[in-house]
Amino acid sequence: MSNDPKGDPTGKPTSTPSATGEAQARQSHFIRDIILQDIASGKHAGRVHTRFPPEPNGYLHIGHAKSICLNYGLAQEFGGKMNLRFDDTNPCKEETEYVDSIIEDVRWLGADWEDRLFYASDYFQQLYEWAVVLIKKGNAYVCDLTAEQVREYRGTLSEPGKESPFRNRSVEENLDLFERMKSGEFPDGSRTLRSKVDMASPNLNMRDPVMYRILHAEHHRTGDKWCIYPMYDYTHGQCDSIEGITHSICTLEFEDHRPLYDWYIQALGIFAPQQIEFDRLNLTYTLLSKRKLLALVQNKVVNGWDDPRMPTLSGIRRRGYTPEAMRTFCSRIGVSKTNGMIEFGLLEHAVREDLNKRARRVMAVLRPLRVVIENYPEGQVEMMEAINNPEDAAMGTRQVPFSKVVYIEQDDFREQPPKHFYRLSPGREVRLRYGYLVTCTGIVKNEQGEVVEVRCTYDPATRGGNTPDGRKVKSTIHWVSAAHAIEAEVRLYESLFLTEDPNDSSRGQDWTDNLNPNSLEVISNPKLEPSLAGAVPGESYQFERLGYFCADKDSAPGRLVFNRTAGLRDSYAKMEKAKG
Ligand code: ATP
Ligand code: MG
Repeated sequence: MSNDPKGDPTGKPTSTPSATGEAQARQSHFIRDIILQDIASGKHAGRVHTRFPPEPNGYLHIGHAKSICLNYGLAQEFGGKMNLRFDDTNPCKEETEYVDSIIEDVRWLGADWEDRLFYASDYFQQLYEWAVVLIKKGNAYVCDLTAEQVREYRGTLSEPGKESPFRNRSVEENLDLFERMKSGEFPDGSRTLRSKVDMASPNLNMRDPVMYRILHAEHHRTGDKWCIYPMYDYTHGQCDSIEGITHSICTLEFEDHRPLYDWYIQALGIFAPQQIEFDRLNLTYTLLSKRKLLALVQNKVVNGWDDPRMPTLSGIRRRGYTPEAMRTFCSRIGVSKTNGMIEFGLLEHAVREDLNKRARRVMAVLRPLRVVIENYPEGQVEMMEAINNPEDAAMGTRQVPFSKVVYIEQDDFREQPPKHFYRLSPGREVRLRYGYLVTCTGIVKNEQGEVVEVRCTYDPATRGGNTPDGRKVKSTIHWVSAAHAIEAEVRLYESLFLTEDPNDSSRGQDWTDNLNPNSLEVISNPKLEPSLAGAVPGESYQFERLGYFCADKDSAPGRLVFNRTAGLRDSYAKMEKAKG
């Protein structure tokens, strides 16, 4: 993928951008109300311009999807625009790999920034010039305190801070020192440029925060041009201002930073965006923090950022979640002013709902048990018609081969069936879906006493699984013809964490003690119906009775790999129904 989609003609989202807007349009919330009022009062001449501002220090996760859908949805609904801007002020943690993945993920979600892809680093020169303006106005000074001293002088919530002994340097001295900081004369950490706000402010963010630090480090875009770098808090608001952002939407933790952003904008006398804060998304059994997700990658708890167990957008995409399901989920969870926790089941529900409409049904046996149909002619193969999707007649039918030896799931047979077990057992008749009705006549055991083969007879009058005489069988099970089965690897996933709140420390020291050791199970000998032979990575299927599965990028010719996207059981849907 191109690094610079500004000039990339393929820089278009893969799915209809309006879908995000439509989903959001139906949903009313306080940010939308603010925008409606702004439009009514003629503020910003009715213009709506938002942005999504990721820091390229990791891959995007499901929480970011909420922010993207919100920012893009509002821009869409009100005929406005959304920019994509990388907040790349920290040269040490940022990598081009992250930039590329973020571009791919935002596009996958269907949000369109058109030609407005920006970087905070695009504005380093302007930010520097504004810093000089603030020095000249007496609003900023060069401070020689060490980082530790700055912290000490800052005070606490209950105690006011102390003024730096360098606070009252002359404008000339400040200009000279700042210029020399920029030209590389001083070592890392020896000096900072600080804003002169108020060391007694009850808001710690206002106690002369640092604007610039010295860092002799290469930046992924500006190389070694700079050895002073602006702090995020000095950068963010001015970037919004430069881009003419009308509504600067961010998460609640930035509420206390807003007075500082407003202070810079006012001191510089530049366009004033309006910052509005909303609640971060937290999901049960899921960690949404780039720092901790990075630790999972670095410690090889998962196989990379796009491991299908990861809550990253690249992880869930690989697992088979669709952008449509993500957008539906984001519009359902809403936007508020209080942080809460959303059930992971709500996201899975949206995924199932979407895949139910679009995924082709197929038959696959994960834990095979051999069934020999004694009275079926040796060497005969019949092609059985199977429905591709009962939800969508347009998806048509396919032919599935039936023969003398088939595989069924081990679970679908019991030598001694417990009460309420209606599947195959000695003497019992079941329907092989789209095949025939078969009756179990015997079993074969190995030396360990395990059932390794089931013997059956079939009723030739029941072709297609029909019962012309109207007799009932209690169970229909899936199967795959042994002679036609294709081999594959199937990966089953459970949540990465055992606790609803992965940060819950009651089970041990910290979040790493809550990891689920069984989050991945590899099924190495499944039997798949032959129509799956052409599956391409990213394609989704419903394996009948088992769940939704998606072909993985690890698939090779002759060796397909599938990820389980989600099981079929939808406890959330049941709960919803019960609630009415
Ligand atoms: P993390 O803690 O995972 O690193 P972050 O907030 O530092 O997240 P940024 O790259 O700075 O990540 O975030 C880009 C945008 O996405 C910000 O506007 C931020 O508020 C928003 N965002 C991040 N996490 C969430 C979340 N869990 N829910 C909603 N929005 C989020
Ligand atoms: Mg951040």
